[in-house]
Amino acid sequence: MTHQFEVVVIGSGPAGYVAAIKAAQLGKKTAIIEKWVKEDGKTTWGGTCLNVGCIPSKALLQSSEMYAETLHGFEDHGIQVKSPKMDVKKMLARKDGIVNQLTTGVAGLLKGNGVTSFEGKGQLKANKVVEVTKHDGSVETIQADNVILAMGSIPVEIPPTPTDGDVIVDSTGALEFSEVPKKLGVIGAGVIGLELGSVWKRLGSEVVVLEAMDKFLAAADGAISKDAFKSFTKDQGLDIRLGARVVGSERKGKQVVVKFQDSEGEKEETFDKLVVAVGRRPYTEGCLSEDSGVKLDERGFIFVDDQCRTTVPGVYAIGDVVRGPMLAHKGSEEGIMVAEIIAGHNAQMNYDAIPNVIYTHPEIAWVGKTEEELKADGVDYKAGAFPFAAIGRAMAAGDTTGQVKILADAKTDRVLGMHIFGLGASEMIAQGVIALEFASSAEDLQLTCFAHPTLSEAVHEAALAVDNMAIHKMNRKKR
Ligand code: FAD
Ligand code: NAD
Repeated sequence: MTHQFEVVVIGSGPAGYVAAIKAAQLGKKTAIIEKWVKEDGKTTWGGTCLNVGCIPSKALLQSSEMYAETLHGFEDHGIQVKSPKMDVKKMLARKDGIVNQLTTGVAGLLKGNGVTSFEGKGQLKANKVVEVTKHDGSVETIQADNVILAMGSIPVEIPPTPTDGDVIVDSTGALEFSEVPKKLGVIGAGVIGLELGSVWKRLGSEVVVLEAMDKFLAAADGAISKDAFKSFTKDQGLDIRLGARVVGSERKGKQVVVKFQDSEGEKEETFDKLVVAVGRRPYTEGCLSEDSGVKLDERGFIFVDDQCRTTVPGVYAIGDVVRGPMLAHKGSEEGIMVAEIIAGHNAQMNYDAIPNVIYTHPEIAWVGKTEEELKADGVDYKAGAFPFAAIGRAMAAGDTTGQVKILADAKTDRVLGMHIFGLGASEMIAQGVIALEFASSAEDLQLTCFAHPTLSEAVHEAALAVDNMAIHKMNRKKR
């Protein structure tokens, strides 16, 4: 029997499940296909983000941050705690509980919105026919008016360090260590390396991060990455080795010896666990039959236009499987846009206003252009920055590291970028996103009333500093 649907979504990550819910809300007869099966044999919904990505990593970041705070942050406040201990198994169980709550929540939302679920692997064939191979091997066929491909991404493997699921692991394995590794190696000082490296460092591991590039966090604004590097290495003790390219590894019993090359030549380091976090790649294997007509670009992403149309009319692709940042909220926004386009609206997405957050402590967050990008593009800009060291609320919180930096067009005053390194940056960056989305000027932020005492006052002061008008610091130039 062939099922008929107006919209069929392959993949239930934050791109796919949001697209399916939105399409159903817009009155389309919608189905979603998910192949992920948990250890208990049940299908799990929500993709990488909910199962092994955003959510479990943030649960562990929170637990480890509270432990580190209890160990080192209480004394100043006059709070005395006798020898706190970390129960790693309980921490993991808490994380699993949160994952379970959210993934079952997604299943409920799909059902509640009238989306039909298929459990198995979907494959797009010619003429918008989708075949679902169920876990028992049986096959069902769906004829779709529209197909949304949302198969997501998987970790990149590098030949020198193939993962073994035991000592050498990817990000998923690094969320599951049943005890704190004595010495932990991380390959890649990207987002995953910094977040998961921070988790185990706070819990007591000696952490060495090997990064091939000479520049730390090259995508972030230079002033922010400089501040962050100092804080992570000097204040927090993460041993981040820049310009260190991993070229080989060898298992020796329960340990791994990693060979890497830096400016001084070839070196070795032995670890109890090794996390490979060198990026993720789009996942399309077995999902597109040869006659599907869908084309990939030169990097293996599904080729799409600005509105996520593939090379086949009526077939769209969204999320990590297409160009752009591999971020959950970017995929979800694309899902909404595509569902609206299918429903006949002329929806568009503003790719210039997607926030980036790295959930270290303090957090790094930005939106829009960096100072280096503006210089490279020859844009005439003004910059204003304000340190948390001069913010009363940050002092009260005992956390004054970092700054807010705002970049604005020198002629039009339009806000072009906001960059934050500091406590609560992930929440504060929404102000920058709204500024960019609403095409605000720096003056708009200057004329806005911010509550006192709050960390967000640093946003206000940075906007004032753009025109050398900051109140609570000396300005570079007199006006
Ligand atoms: P995915 O979430 O990868 O979902 C794709 C789904 O499709 C999967 O469930 C897969 O099983 C299914 N699938 C694939 N092929 C088929 C098929 N043929 N048939 C049926 N089903 C199929 N992003 C953030 O924005 N914030 C964060 O804090 C953050 N933290 C992260 C932490 C870690 C450790 C990792 C690994 C990633 C993190 N990310 C974060 C990135 C985020 O998880 C991804 O950008 C996001 O999950 C992409 O969503 P997606 O829907 O495109 O794909
Ligand atoms: P990444 O691209 O952020 O970082 C990978 C790093 O590995 C790079 O700095 C690269 O230079 C380095 N590298 C590559 N090969 C190397 C080698 N042989 N030796 C040493 N270093 C090497 O990738 P990631 O950290 O794996 O994250 C993957 C994706 O997941 C990212 O694109 C990110 O968008 C997403 N993610 C987002 C969040 C978040 O939003 N907070 C959190 C986790 C992951």
